[in-house]
Amino acid sequence: TVPLSLFVASVEQAPIAISITDKKANILYINDAFTQVTGYLAAEILGQNESKLSDKRTPRQVYYDLWHTISRKQVWQGRLVNRRKQGQRYLADLTIAPMLDENGAISHYIGMHRDVTQAH
Ligand code: FAD
Repeated sequence: TVPLSLFVASVEQAPIAISITDKKANILYINDAFTQVTGYLAAEILGQNESKLSDKRTPRQVYYDLWHTISRKQVWQGRLVNRRKQGQRYLADLTIAPMLDENGAISHYIGMHRDVTQAH
């Protein structure tokens, strides 16, 4: 069996920005790659909403579609414009998956994104 510490280390060290949020997208956890991509340290962003990353140029419809999808327990995948701590914009390829509790209700969301500005 795989020790729990190995699961933790694999998320910490995964080469994709990972965040875990509550049901309102308030950030509870970020991994190292999240800091590398966004510029935010855990102490600076834990407790804040994921909207802190928004460049505010992404059409409202994208967020509506995102929430419509994930609140129905489905996985959303798409691209939106994010802004780093230092202000620089980047194109984020983002996947959000709901995490379900033992009753099948949404308890958290997990977000995974990478900077695809160069690939675009
Ligand atoms: P908001 O006021 O947050 O919302 C815009 C619209 O989204 C609302 O009109 C409503 O239709 C819908 N909405 C918002 N909150 C809820 C809710 N709790 N339930 C149902 N519908 C809701 N955004 C980014 O820009 N970049 C990211 O990298 C990013 N990563 C995310 C990762 C995760 C795991 C989650 C759960 C969300 C992420 N978001 C991200 C979305 C983010 O939380 C905001 O909804 C978005 O940035 C828009 O912010 P806003 O302040 O402009 O508008």
